[in-house]
Amino acid sequence: MTDIVVVGSLNVDVVVPLHELPAPGQTVLGAADHRRAGGGKGANQAVAAARLGRRVAMVGAVGIDADGDWLLGLIAAEGVATEAVVRAPRPTGQAIVLVTADGDSTIAVSSGANMWLAPEHLGPLRDLLGSARAVLLQQEVDAAVVAEAVRLAEGLVVLNPAPARPVDPATLARVDVLVPNRGELAALAGAPLTDAGVDGLAAMARSLGTRGPVVVTLGGDGALVVTTDRQWLIPAEQVDAVDATGAGDTFCAALADALLDGAAIDEAARWASRAAAVTVTRPGAMEAAPRRVEVPTAA
Ligand code: ATP
Repeated sequence: MTDIVVVGSLNVDVVVPLHELPAPGQTVLGAADHRRAGGGKGANQAVAAARLGRRVAMVGAVGIDADGDWLLGLIAAEGVATEAVVRAPRPTGQAIVLVTADGDSTIAVSSGANMWLAPEHLGPLRDLLGSARAVLLQQEVDAAVVAEAVRLAEGLVVLNPAPARPVDPATLARVDVLVPNRGELAALAGAPLTDAGVDGLAAMARSLGTRGPVVVTLGGDGALVVTTDRQWLIPAEQVDAVDATGAGDTFCAALADALLDGAAIDEAARWASRAAAVTVTRPGAMEAAPRRVEVPTAA
């Protein structure tokens, strides 16, 4: 049986190191050593869950092109089952990532095959989605695909609503655990992104009316777990941060992993925060996700 089905995006990230980010209309010559990496929040979370030892299947779309072949080979080598990834008459999703040595970045994404994926592609995957112990989703695919996948899921449903966009009430009502960052929470709550403190964020989370907990990731400030009647602020692990990209993806995968083991939501968030902190100590996103043995046990 599949532990976790991830429904989401698969991208090729082309990472270009630069001394400075270009201004509009400007051309900046970068270093010669650009690199290609697997990416997309869906693929990142699938690989992160597989590295934690879970049986993972990916649902998404890539193009009928060399990038699609490369990406599927990459995640399959990580142990992710790729049979449910559809080949689309669109190019594989691409993210052009411009980064400077001091960590500034500008990212342009061409969704390609990811946004071509439609609810009808999930019909043949009814058994896979219905039998998975958990379904983990993000919002880099069409909203109708997210809604349909949530409708077909019978196990635990974890939604990472990134990037921010409205979620229809029927979908939100079926989500067991919602994992937004600050900006995504504010967008969902229809609140301005002010410097709301912990109580303000908790009030926003409760205003969503989800049936389960909301876990708000706060970057280097940790994570806030909110239920109807309790809240826990989980401090971030103290690490030498190198590159925080992919931290949220590892966090979501590890949270689902711990919940499948029967952990309480605050314990699951502590495990997720230890796993995400390892990702922060390494460059890259997908390639920075830790294997289970690399995540420190609780002090
Ligand atoms: P991304 O989209 O880049 O994956 P995100 O906004 O979804 O990011 P963050 O809130 O930045 O996610 O980070 C997720 C989690 O990773 C945090 O809740 C925290 O546990 C951990 N984390 C992030 N940054 C740091 C840091 N500098 N030090 C330690 N832990 C961190």
